[in-house]
Amino acid sequence: MRIVLVGPPGAGKGTQAAFLAKNLGIPHISTGDLFRANISQETELGRQAKSYMNAGNLVPDEVTIGMAEDRMRQSDAENGFLLDGFPRNVSQAVALDAFLDGTGTKLDAVLDLEVPEDEIVKRIAGRRICRNDSAHVFHVFYASPKTEGVCDVCGGELYQRGDDTEATVRNRLDVYHRETEPIIDHYKAQGLVVTISALGKVEEVTRRAMAALPQLRH
Ligand code: AMP
Repeated sequence: MRIVLVGPPGAGKGTQAAFLAKNLGIPHISTGDLFRANISQETELGRQAKSYMNAGNLVPDEVTIGMAEDRMRQSDAENGFLLDGFPRNVSQAVALDAFLDGTGTKLDAVLDLEVPEDEIVKRIAGRRICRNDSAHVFHVFYASPKTEGVCDVCGGELYQRGDDTEATVRNRLDVYHRETEPIIDHYKAQGLVVTISALGKVEEVTRRAMAALPQLRH
């Protein structure tokens, strides 16, 4: 299965993507995680991405599309993948369509996670992530770890992402409305979009998503 996950920052894309990818037996490809890995390894790509990310802006397409395509070409992605955070604008969506055409494959579904605007800032400002694994996500109110600042899963240190501050979140939301939302219409025209509510417990949202996905299989 080839799935794109879309939703505003704070919709729980990363968390849902990790669960869904595991349930479906496909790799979770997050361009945000790829950038963060490049930043911590101090690569040239990381250096190029860092200032855009910290301001909450999109990293330029020239950098992003090549990185995403390289990842999709790896052997574990041969039979499917779940894309989280890519495409993030219409030109990336068009590039992805062309890439899939070139490999004789197509998307099965675009899962749109919906969350009310006032909930978003609250969610993001309290988010804490494990330094060892960004799939280990906690929240100071909604999913607090047993010991403050320590990951329940692996004992790693929890931290707040540099782009999770309130000012950056507001800009990321503007960028989402302006740049990313139009891809939903792009994929609606292909009959691929299914929208689910991202409110409620993590497991409830995962169940909702799994229930919605088969309807989109062609
Ligand atoms: P995420 O972890 O998906 O929230 O992404 C964090 C940040 O990485 C975004 O705010 C962007 O600065 C950058 N980023 C991730 N994916 C993309 C993409 N497809 N295009 C451009 N920038 C991206």
